[in-house]
Amino acid sequence: MSQPYVVSSDWRVLKMAPDNRPAMTVPPHTSVVFETLDCFSNRLADETRPFTSGGWENINPATGPVAVEGAQPGDVLRVDIIDIAVDDQAVIAAAPGFGEMPDSVREKTRIVPIRDGFACLEWQRTGGKPPFKANIPVDPMIGVIGVAPKEDAVPTGTPGAHGGNMDCNRITRGASLYLPVAVPGALFALGDLHALMGDGEVVVCGLEISGRVTVSFSIIKDRSWPLPLLVQKDTFMTLASAKTLDEAARQATQNMQKFLVEELAFEPTEAAMLLSVQGNLRICQVVDPLKTARMEIPLSLLADCGYVLP
Ligand code: CA
Ligand code: CA
Repeated sequence: MSQPYVVSSDWRVLKMAPDNRPAMTVPPHTSVVFETLDCFSNRLADETRPFTSGGWENINPATGPVAVEGAQPGDVLRVDIIDIAVDDQAVIAAAPGFGEMPDSVREKTRIVPIRDGFACLEWQRTGGKPPFKANIPVDPMIGVIGVAPKEDAVPTGTPGAHGGNMDCNRITRGASLYLPVAVPGALFALGDLHALMGDGEVVVCGLEISGRVTVSFSIIKDRSWPLPLLVQKDTFMTLASAKTLDEAARQATQNMQKFLVEELAFEPTEAAMLLSVQGNLRICQVVDPLKTARMEIPLSLLADCGYVLP
């Protein structure tokens, strides 16, 4: 078997942009390994380093981009996530003014060891109580994953129709993400791994960690899907990002209705009713420049309609 393509984290971008120079061109249906730094460019190596010390210019590096052979504007790029291997130390940081509890957190950095697939958490309590300890199985996910937009550069910290910093905790090993190709080669990049992250990412980051992600690409022609779409385990999802969570929620929902109507031939009102009964509207994250929501339906619904996702 031939060696997989390996993209070193020396090749990294802070913007998804149509004029980024690709690290390499890779063929579809081949394993490509991305070596990634954490979202702080690995600069918060101990608990004395505050969140803001890494420098904003080093936040959310994405490894790449790579050009995918044959990808043309208008195509859909399917990204199969074959594996996510995380390193043995994660970091989480808080700072006043950030996240959903901006007035009641102080600047603090915690290092979390990862041992044998478990995050070894230890949370301090007050009043002389012993720390709360828990070993939680890691569930590695990709925070930043996307392609170049058609024009203009989008910072890797911002999500959008091109993907980017969606911070969806269902983008895990075994998931397939569908993204819109806007430029020749797609110019795909990823980074910002989390060993664990809850829906919302409410303090502003998850268990941030460096690692290696193995993916393979497929190119799908002639589809006008509401992208991004995601398949993970037994669930099919639309993802949408907008200035407010309300708008993101509405967009994700309407995107799923569009898919049900245009691909599965549902009558529009019946599609809306179906989503009210079997759809789960969830929060991905509320802490990035745009907020991200997802609408989830059972993947079996597609099969029940005789529909096979390419
Ligand atoms: Ca993120
Ligand atoms: Ca992150």
